[in-house]
Amino acid sequence: MLIRYRIEINGVVQGVGFRPFVYNLAQTLGVKGFVKNDLSGVIIEIEEDSKILELFLKKLEEEKPPLSQIYKIKVKELPLVGFKNFVIEKSTQDKEISLDILPDVATCEYCLKEMIDPHDRRYLYPFINCTLCGPRFTIIEKLPYDRENTAMRVFEMCKDCYKEYVDPKDRRFHAQPVACPYCGPYLELFDNQGNKVAEKEEALKKTTELLKEGYIVAVKGIGGFHLMGKATDAKVIDLLRKRKRRSRKPLAVMFKNLEQLKIYCKISPEEERVLLSPARPIVLLEGRELLPSHIAPGLKRIGAFLPYSPLHHLILQNLDFPVIATSGNFSDEPIVIKNEEAFKKLIYLADYLLMHNREILRRADDSVIKVINQNPIFIRRARGYAPLPIFLPFQLKERILAVGPRDKNTFAIGLENKVILSQHVGDIETVEDLEDFEKTLKDFMELYKFEPEVVVCDKHPFYETTKWAERFTLERELPLVKVQHHLAHILSCMAENEIFDEVLGIAWDGTGYGEDGTVWGGEFLVVKGKTYHRVAHLRHFCLIGGEKAIKEPKRVALALLLELYGEKALEKPIPLLKIFEKKELLLLYKAWEKRINSPLSSSCGRLFDAISALIGVNYINHYEGESPMILEDLFDYEVKDFYSLELYHEKGKYIIDWSPMIEAITFGKEPIQVKVSKFINTLAKACLEVALRFGIEKVCLSGGVMMNKPLVERITEFLSSEGFKVFYQTKVPPNDGGLSLGQVLYQGLEFLNF
Ligand code: ZN
Ligand code: ZN
Ligand code: FE
Repeated sequence: MLIRYRIEINGVVQGVGFRPFVYNLAQTLGVKGFVKNDLSGVIIEIEEDSKILELFLKKLEEEKPPLSQIYKIKVKELPLVGFKNFVIEKSTQDKEISLDILPDVATCEYCLKEMIDPHDRRYLYPFINCTLCGPRFTIIEKLPYDRENTAMRVFEMCKDCYKEYVDPKDRRFHAQPVACPYCGPYLELFDNQGNKVAEKEEALKKTTELLKEGYIVAVKGIGGFHLMGKATDAKVIDLLRKRKRRSRKPLAVMFKNLEQLKIYCKISPEEERVLLSPARPIVLLEGRELLPSHIAPGLKRIGAFLPYSPLHHLILQNLDFPVIATSGNFSDEPIVIKNEEAFKKLIYLADYLLMHNREILRRADDSVIKVINQNPIFIRRARGYAPLPIFLPFQLKERILAVGPRDKNTFAIGLENKVILSQHVGDIETVEDLEDFEKTLKDFMELYKFEPEVVVCDKHPFYETTKWAERFTLERELPLVKVQHHLAHILSCMAENEIFDEVLGIAWDGTGYGEDGTVWGGEFLVVKGKTYHRVAHLRHFCLIGGEKAIKEPKRVALALLLELYGEKALEKPIPLLKIFEKKELLLLYKAWEKRINSPLSSSCGRLFDAISALIGVNYINHYEGESPMILEDLFDYEVKDFYSLELYHEKGKYIIDWSPMIEAITFGKEPIQVKVSKFINTLAKACLEVALRFGIEKVCLSGGVMMNKPLVERITEFLSSEGFKVFYQTKVPPNDGGLSLGQVLYQGLEFLNF
């Protein structure tokens, strides 16, 4: 039966080759009608036999362009009009700015093929790209996305490139960064004295030679510079760590292809899918016996990724070893993106600098992902993902700016039914960090022509972001809304899973400002709309020395022992005590006893730290998350036992008492793998115990601790088997990098009724 459909598609569907795709699909199926862009996405009208239209809809979702994202499809049946053919219609508002800015996309297979074809005019050209691939976010100066508004403005297209650019049938139709060896950017190689050593193909050749010889080369990539060096050479890694002042934090490794990667790492089908996705993130993978151990000291996993720019492919294709590809910066500083900056800073880190004259306009660090329960979990969301929006199933009534937290900062803007998170900004502690945050924020607001009507921040009075939000809203006379840290974590999880009724939220992280003056981080919150009740938490312990306790797991372990045994702890035969100097031990005891700079905390992250010190695997954190990462690698799935666990009631809350567990871990004679596994099992059991007491069907997991693979997998297993529905985060990081999404939702819920 002949019918007519009107299909409205909402999502990321503009500038991704969606209309040509629809056109081709219509041609193949012999469907008549039209397709056009519209303010909220793409509109299609088609007429054909109902069976064929169903097929059309099916293929529309299944075969959509790789860069597109369909959020919602609305299909309406309308009276027949008798279309004669299928056409791409001019948009009603061609001048209208589409707010979709795409992330940078890894080189596609077609471009790769051309790049290694000696007869192609872009043979070995490191800046080859097309509509399906190439830089976007990092080269856009402003909207609309046209060549003159990008970093490509300075390169005048040659005749051949222009022909491709204006031909609707060409793969490079309106590909803004289109270029070739005659008209586009080119490479230059410098030594660290600033002398030019080579250019173009010669620079590339020389770079591979240098890497073979063990030199460290700074390579300008898509979202910033990398420092590259031979990953199989221990001396190179030593040198790199020394220069970067990065003692133990894992270094990422780039492999030339999947085949080479599989020699070094074990990968699951899901991990393979993520590695090969157009975003090409770093994926944490098991197995690195064949690589020097100080690539990731104390860990079984490494951050592995594949080439994502043509330049990476060209560098790696002539090497028979993987390379370290770590961000080009001193530890804790933003990644370098400008050539001038590289000459100032990277000359101290690298022996040579491989640069080019296509400007990077904003930085985008490599994204980092871990696969848990066959799902990708973000550790860092930046290149390849930012600024793709997170869609909400309702319209926001205001333009909301959420400034995010202090650590692993991202900020977010909320408008219409979208929340757009910034790329990873990083920790905001120093004046320079704050300047960088401000710069990134200003850039984002200009890019999206975004003027907030309300600003949201964390409740922590000393977060630089909170203070910034206070100043900003005062100046602009805007309302400022403050959200409790762990509530924002749970709301972030609810937002991406589109759950807006009552949930039990388990927010476990390192630290967050609690409403009662203690440091929270092991929280169970019943959340309904904007309101929440803290219904349970981990038993308190002391962070002796405050911030210092975060850096030194041994202090937390000591605090737990003191909590258990008081002064007597110091006389017990506990191995941990031997690593303290006598004087230090007494000093710490005094601080604990008198509560000098020793706030109470219920942090689960710190509990992980404490365990790592108690079992003797890590006493000092050289980087954030070191202890939990070590423990994660010690987990043994075969171990199903628990430690005994007590839940007691205090002031209307359940307190999860870790004391029997700590006692057993301290004095037990089991191997450390068993202790670690039982510890994690016990934490998962605690979640089940609390969930059973409240009987709320939906349970949301968030916070940095919820990046722990065995823990999340155990929690999911235990709770699902009792009929609970467990939700965690796969679109934004569960750590503080995803917090700004929750902050936006908090304000967004203001106008919804529950
Ligand atoms: Zn391409
Ligand atoms: Zn050209
Ligand atoms: Fe947090």
